[in-house]
Amino acid sequence: MPTNDVSDLASRLDDARSVTVITGAGVSAPSGVPTFRDDHGLWKNHRPEELATPQAFASDPTMIWEWYNWRRELVAQCQPNAAHHILAKWASSARVTTIITQNVDGLHERAGTDGVIRFHGSIWELRCWKECDAGKIAWQDSAVPLHPLPPRCPYCDELARPGVVWFGEHITPDVLSASLHAARCEVFLTIGTSAIVQPAASLVHTAKQGGAFTAEINLEPTPSSTEVDIAIQGSADHILVEIERQRDN
Ligand code: NAD
Repeated sequence: MPTNDVSDLASRLDDARSVTVITGAGVSAPSGVPTFRDDHGLWKNHRPEELATPQAFASDPTMIWEWYNWRRELVAQCQPNAAHHILAKWASSARVTTIITQNVDGLHERAGTDGVIRFHGSIWELRCWKECDAGKIAWQDSAVPLHPLPPRCPYCDELARPGVVWFGEHITPDVLSASLHAARCEVFLTIGTSAIVQPAASLVHTAKQGGAFTAEINLEPTPSSTEVDIAIQGSADHILVEIERQRDN
């Protein structure tokens, strides 16, 4: 680990009046939640990109719900890790700190972060597949396992769908505008994301254009690595612990 990069980032974070962090599946990986790109991301030999689409749901809602049910059961057994806890601490500090997450697992909230901008929704929310008036607003359902499968909309009895943003779907407009607003910050940090899923991946460009100092933490290089001011290779939990250690000294 290039220690000078970690100390540089630690002192930038100390000096900044506003910090925005965008997290991806790599932040939850040390908790045991599979990323989409690793070998454990497969379910019954299906790639996530084949399952997380409206077309897949339309053709086999029961199978797609079985996949979400499996993910909900898996996440329910996982605990937030040091990265989630450190980010929760930053978010509760006096400085403006915004956490945007592409994760749908709810682990930032379980670590105590309020006001997370959930870019891709939540696997703990459902909404009406037919978008009936009452059911187009997502509702919470933490039941594990979900029963019956597939679940139905409580308002119109049509199918319910997971309250997530699938590949090919648009980001909710107020979520997108809150994220673009948050990208106007002094330090923009991207952690544990492959930086290929749009439009999340372009937020770092928005931040850079607005004059932010930009940094990335990831196990491996990503398309963003050459564009950010500092790219640190390592596990999200270990690097954040090291940053905290340096800031405490
Ligand atoms: P991704 O699976 O495409 O990429 C994960 C990235 O994390 C990779 O670049 C990998 O190198 C990195 N990584 C893995 N372990 C790490 C660690 N310990 N520390 C630091 N980095 C690590 O995930 P993505 O970029 O977040 O985007 C894909 C989509 O996947 C998103 O839309 C998201 O909703 C969804 N997703 C969410 C979850 C979750 O909620 N936990 C899990 C899988 C996928």
